[in-house]
Amino acid sequence: MRLSKSFIPTLKEVPAEASIPSHILMIRSGLIRQVSAGIYTWLPLGYKVLRQIMEIIREEMNAIGGQEFHFPGLNPKEIWEQTGRVEAFGDILFHIKNRDYVLAPTHEEIVAYHAKGSIVSYKDMPQIWYQIQTKFRNEPRPRSGVIRGRQFIMKDAYTLDKDNDGLDVGYALHDKAYRAIFDRCGLNYFIVGASSGAMGGSKSEEFMVKSSAGEDTVAYCEKCGYAANAEVAQSVAEPAKHHVESKAVYDISTPDVKSIDELCEFLKIDESETAKSRIYIHDGQPVLVLMLGNDEVNETKLGSVLGGVVRPAHPDELKEISGADAGSIGPIGFPHRVLADALLADGNNLYSGANKNDFHIGGLDLKRDVPKIEYFDLRTSESGEKCTRCGSLLEVFKAIELGHIFKLGTKYSEALGVNFLDENGKEKPVVMGSYGIGVDRVFACFIEQNYDEKGIVWKEPLSPFDIHLIGLNMKNALVSENCERIYIDLIAEGYEVLFDDRLDASAGFKFNDADLLGFPVQVIVGEKNLKDGKVELKNRKTGQKKVVELAKLADELKNPF
Ligand code: ATP
Ligand code: MG
Repeated sequence: MRLSKSFIPTLKEVPAEASIPSHILMIRSGLIRQVSAGIYTWLPLGYKVLRQIMEIIREEMNAIGGQEFHFPGLNPKEIWEQTGRVEAFGDILFHIKNRDYVLAPTHEEIVAYHAKGSIVSYKDMPQIWYQIQTKFRNEPRPRSGVIRGRQFIMKDAYTLDKDNDGLDVGYALHDKAYRAIFDRCGLNYFIVGASSGAMGGSKSEEFMVKSSAGEDTVAYCEKCGYAANAEVAQSVAEPAKHHVESKAVYDISTPDVKSIDELCEFLKIDESETAKSRIYIHDGQPVLVLMLGNDEVNETKLGSVLGGVVRPAHPDELKEISGADAGSIGPIGFPHRVLADALLADGNNLYSGANKNDFHIGGLDLKRDVPKIEYFDLRTSESGEKCTRCGSLLEVFKAIELGHIFKLGTKYSEALGVNFLDENGKEKPVVMGSYGIGVDRVFACFIEQNYDEKGIVWKEPLSPFDIHLIGLNMKNALVSENCERIYIDLIAEGYEVLFDDRLDASAGFKFNDADLLGFPVQVIVGEKNLKDGKVELKNRKTGQKKVVELAKLADELKNPF
């Protein structure tokens, strides 16, 4: 392709809207442009790479027996109501005004719709159905470029099986395909145990890349390989102390003391002597959740314990529910359900809120004072805590989710009546699995892992071109004639070549663009070397250069560095 005729709008400046390397470089190298928050156009060079990623995915999905579909993005709302997911997705679901449609954020419902009535016997399964399609999610905070968009491309696959053994096989096949896809894309990734979230179901794992730009937090044990999303991660942490002598409960006046830190400062006590209260609304009913010290409530764990719809209580609801505002709420006499983190199970002589503003209590003994309390693992693991498997120290860090595999089970088939007749003529719900890859995220994460101060550093097989051919002064006849010939020869050799044939761009400008675009090899053609029958090769990654004989260029390129 000739650069003079291509639309590759490179930018020298760092775009104001971008803060992470992949986002900056995708804009600067003319791969994407933003249309509106979280909505992007893929420009031709970007779309070329995106197609290559989709092709790798397609090949690996076909290799495990996947059959490619194209489901509609526009879905009747009714079918989403039947599975309860209009409510479960909440504001993330895009609704079409004046019509009962939604824009699909995923496709379990439509898969179930097609399976119903066409998968009638156990003989019709297993099935692996997949597609590579645009998804819509009204993300409240679109950011990091295409990593979190409101419209994005997902490869989503679904398995349909007669039983859990079949599901296990389909799940294992996807695990294998996903490893192959991410390996072929050249990504450094790892796999973590995950929560099934709004999707429902039993086992689920995520394919992650470590990144400070990530919105997921994972706990990782280098020693034994334990890796889990912080939403479900467990760790060994110091429990609340049990003192031999339990004090009686007493009020303490604590004017203006709101946070656990302020309470510890005011009373000169340690965080581990305090129990923090948070109020949630579960299916319309208040629930108090008690945590040790400054531990945060893990809302995913809380959601799994409670089921149904759970949300933090709004500040203006607190007083009516507990008699106090945030900062003074406590478990004694709380008129609704009280849950506590398991670390608090044996705690006594604790400090907590008094359920009246500007007061706390001391001498709290949970067994004695809150008899109906229920204990669960509700906390979020932190760096430096111990691995539950091997006792080594856990590392907790940010990561970006590339893909997710779920054992869904029968949630959707039951909701939508997708049944089949088994070997004994008995009617059963189809067992489903669901498997997603964010195609745009794969693209951006590759760049997050492959760039330097000059630009992107592509490698095979994702690089949009193999060779960047640079004609240094195209107004010079010797240079332009040779470039034209080299260009034709390289294409004949089977290379994909971007030819910088621009007449007016300076050498420095062309070099900067070539480094920014970052294809693996640059062939630099200038008058000086040509006079000796030579051209220069540059390895984009290492910066290494060598001058080679033009006559031997084809051979040299077979193993350039
Ligand atoms: P996240 O937790 O990041 O919101 P998710 O768990 O909701 O993602 P899934 O429903 O599992 O996502 O979707 C499958 C894949 O689609 C994800 O692994 C991710 O790579 C991609 N994906 C999800 N949401 C977005 C988005 N807003 N923009 C780009 N890709 C996305
Ligand atoms: Mg997910």
